[in-house]
Amino acid sequence: MSVVYNKVALIGLGLIAGSISLAAKRAGSAGQITGTARSARTRSIARDLRLCDVIVDNSASAVRDADLVILCVPVGAMGKVMSEIKPHLKRGAVVTDVGSVKQEVIELVAPHLPEGVHFIPGHPLAGTEQSGPHSGFAELFENRWWLLTPLPDTDSHEVSRLRRFIRSLGANVEDMEPAHHDLVLAVTSHTPHLIAYTMVGVADHLTRVTESEIIKYSAAGFRDFTRIAASDPTMWRDVFLNNKEAVLDILGRFTEELFVLQRAIRMGDGEHLHDYFTRTRGIRRGIIEAGQDTAAPDFGRGPKPPERSQ
Ligand code: NAP
Repeated sequence: MSVVYNKVALIGLGLIAGSISLAAKRAGSAGQITGTARSARTRSIARDLRLCDVIVDNSASAVRDADLVILCVPVGAMGKVMSEIKPHLKRGAVVTDVGSVKQEVIELVAPHLPEGVHFIPGHPLAGTEQSGPHSGFAELFENRWWLLTPLPDTDSHEVSRLRRFIRSLGANVEDMEPAHHDLVLAVTSHTPHLIAYTMVGVADHLTRVTESEIIKYSAAGFRDFTRIAASDPTMWRDVFLNNKEAVLDILGRFTEELFVLQRAIRMGDGEHLHDYFTRTRGIRRGIIEAGQDTAAPDFGRGPKPPERSQ
């Protein structure tokens, strides 16, 4: 594969940035990858792991001369990071991000954009419950979707070039309108995470079942919730604070459906329950047919790479 960008800068060196770096190195689509992270500890681990070609101590040095800058920090930190790098961006550079929410990131980042710099917001629909510089792996994006939400007057040549780079990481790229992205993700990712957090919280508060029983008998379904509920607290706090409207909309619908199921159980309406579960089983089949998961009953729980989410 030929080089798509001569110099790529990664701001933040966690799961997503690490995976981008490893996948781009494997593909040969970046001439040089420079990375930086907020803490000296993360930078030192990233240096030991040789996660990037160069690790520098601050974001200003990282973005100098960069053709592509990728913001890989929690959603709530995007505005602050952008204001720091703003004076140091090269004219003609492309800035993208990997944040799980799009409308709010655009509002945080766009006001800081200098003249001649292109901002193309993005979101890889790939992740795991792991975080930090150790957690990245080159295969994370393989056959996963990566959504771009370009603003109306973005240079189409630059969008095509970014698409080419993302495809080099193994992902499939599609464009989406930012508000629609936030609604789709509220259904497919954000609300399911909230439900998993809640279920694990419920088990934690239950006094009639002991903690050792919950852990011992978790394979009955609970452990799938615990994997999701082990996701990074900072990232998920920021997702809910920044995609409030869409999540509250879906949560309202969820609560209504839950009440209907609760009533069906109370009234002994087996037909309703059976029909409902038959429909949901069909959705699972659709996901497998689309290649977004495997039908293996213990999907991903075997050897590495770790189970994907999001
Ligand atoms: P991560 O592994 O926790 O890494 C986050 C990185 O951001 C770390 O290098 C951290 O630096 C830095 N950081 C944290 N807070 C910061 C702040 N206030 N200012 C500057 N830097 C800060 O996170 P990740 O999973 O890679 O997620 C990064 C982004 O990708 C998030 O916006 C998330 O919404 C999005 N995303 C995540 C997933 C997923 O499943 N994890 C999937 C798709 C998209 P230190 O280590 O030095 O603290």
